[in-house]
Amino acid sequence: MNKLYSQIFKLIGVCLQVLFLGLYGIINYSIIFDIIILHHLAYQSIALTVMLCILFGFCSMNTLFNYLAACAISPGSTYEFPFVNVEQIQQQFNINTCSKCRKVKPPRSHHCSVCNKCIFKMDHHCPWINNCVGHFNMRYFLLFLFYSNFTLIISSVGYLNLTFNSIFDDYLNQITFIVSIVAILCYSLSVAMSIFSLMNWLLALKGYTQIEYWNKKIPSPQDSSKQITFEHANFIDNLNEIFGTKVIYKMFLPSFRKQPEDGVTWKNCKSNIFQQSLQDISNNPNFINNTSLQYKNKESDQNKKNQFQQLQQNDNDIFQLTNETL
Ligand SMILES: [Zn+2]
Ligand SMILES: [Zn+2]
Repeated sequence: MNKLYSQIFKLIGVCLQVLFLGLYGIINYSIIFDIIILHHLAYQSIALTVMLCILFGFCSMNTLFNYLAACAISPGSTYEFPFVNVEQIQQQFNINTCSKCRKVKPPRSHHCSVCNKCIFKMDHHCPWINNCVGHFNMRYFLLFLFYSNFTLIISSVGYLNLTFNSIFDDYLNQITFIVSIVAILCYSLSVAMSIFSLMNWLLALKGYTQIEYWNKKIPSPQDSSKQITFEHANFIDNLNEIFGTKVIYKMFLPSFRKQPEDGVTWKNCKSNIFQQSLQDISNNPNFINNTSLQYKNKESDQNKKNQFQQLQQNDNDIFQLTNETL
């Protein structure tokens, strides 16, 4: 049943990807022929036309690049564990295993029932990109939201100018209906995207994922006024974790830059409540039941440790076998 659900969801994802590319094509076609060319004909200004071409061209290329990267780049999952230092992680934390995929489950990872694996720093599963948004593709998703939203807003301004400025009256007689349809599409999409983009960017600035935001009210067992959080000292460090740079303009340029964290250990966080309260968490069964950040004290759960080591050994065997086969 779970497999059927996953396949249906993946199929819907493919349809939404095709729908997105269709909308992208229609809106860009309309921007070129309705906004740029009509503005050029009406204003007869080379400078304005060049500026519009550069502005729309830059936003449009970045929208497509970041969309394709968000679709194609893996957010990072526990299926990639053979490639990280599991020994070191095990020394720092006694990591629990996921009851669904039977893999080790590092901090901030969550199981996605569509992808059927635990995703590093999982934000959400996005059907529009047919992929999970997680640690390694978060930046592309955020930049996709930014550039697509910016394109829609400036297109909406362009369409408002076409609609209410009498200078365009001579050019709009033949295409009023088409312009109206695309304009309404741009207005409505820009409002919806603005709300969604704002929410995602605010969470990124604060160092939260969507899942962590909704779960953040879980109090620390040590001090109820404190909460489990992975945020850094300031918003630049929070963005650095996602974009791999502290230089703001570089964050907005296309890149495949490496990030400071590996998606498994989160050593540079301001709050060490998580590490400090491992003992308290292990002594509080209610807390363990209410959060997916399930960690247990090593001494108090030897069976779990043995199970983890067995799973890890199995993974290494499979990995070595795969390498030998290849
Ligand atoms: Zn899992
Ligand atoms: Zn997923």
